[in-house]
Amino acid sequence: MTAPLISVQDLTIRFKTDEGLITAVENVSFDLAPGEILGLVGESGSGKSVTAKALMQLNGGNTVYDPSSKIILNVPGEAPLDVLSLKREKDMIQVRGGAVSMIFQEPMASFAPAITVGDQMVEQLLLHSKMTAKEATDLSVEMLARVGIPDPAKRFKQYAFEFSGGMRQRAMIAMALSTKPKLLIADEPTTALDVTIQAQVIDLMTDLVSEFGMGILFITHDLGVIAQTADRVAVMYLGRHVETGPVREVIRNPAHPYTRGLIDALPKLEDLEAKLTPIPGDIPSPLNRPSGCVFHSRCSVAMEGPCQTLVPGFIEPVPGHEVACHLVEQELRKGAAE
Ligand code: SF4
Repeated sequence: MTAPLISVQDLTIRFKTDEGLITAVENVSFDLAPGEILGLVGESGSGKSVTAKALMQLNGGNTVYDPSSKIILNVPGEAPLDVLSLKREKDMIQVRGGAVSMIFQEPMASFAPAITVGDQMVEQLLLHSKMTAKEATDLSVEMLARVGIPDPAKRFKQYAFEFSGGMRQRAMIAMALSTKPKLLIADEPTTALDVTIQAQVIDLMTDLVSEFGMGILFITHDLGVIAQTADRVAVMYLGRHVETGPVREVIRNPAHPYTRGLIDALPKLEDLEAKLTPIPGDIPSPLNRPSGCVFHSRCSVAMEGPCQTLVPGFIEPVPGHEVACHLVEQELRKGAAE
């Protein structure tokens, strides 16, 4: 069996704050295979971005990883790398922008405003390869062309503020892919774009993943985007995985009440007049994490007792589709006994 490209095992992340330690991610595990797109979905505050940034140790100096947490990167032909064991910034360089690249929601925040887009692309290539400056320049212009930027040689010499929003996002994808990463982390890459540009960027990313054979961790709050893009989906709520499985299976047969709530909140093409059904309430503050099932304070089918006191474990209603919910477990047991 081929080793997963990245294996996240029992990841628990806390932050030191003036109010004490707060838990942002708890006991999260997943694997991502080469050439696979895994969608991480959930509302703001669900821990998606914190999980993704942990893969590159980008969460900042007040981060505390639980000792049991492991993130193993398996680059073909190289020894497995335990990312969280790398303590020095210079050791992380082989990971950041090398084996793993990240694109963000707002590319303007990623490009330095006073350095041309081309110089930033070349600098990254020189850091992560043995190319000459001329080779790095040629490859950067070629990558700008590959992502559909017109007149790439001219654009190479321009600054990010001279690009439109969609073009900036394309340039960031070009920069992220120029080092041929094995894993691309895309954090809400289409949220700041209008719908037509969104579709272009999604098409571009899915084309490039098959061409480059890399894995993509695609983070979004939008299940509709995941339905179009991902092979598998992992739904997160308040730092925990609550449901995971092949994307079609989870969207057709959502089992967790939170996933069902996310799907009910999507507009329906067959009935555009229908009112959307939001999930009641807000995601709780991580300072006040509910006991038991973290979703119980907003769950319309919560049961008195176990939902408030016991953290649900994962069960598999069908192979490969996992759900953490006491009610689903109870119904499965009842079905098996009948
Ligand atoms: Fe709702 Fe209970 Fe299931 Fe949590 S475990 S989602 S509170 S039914």
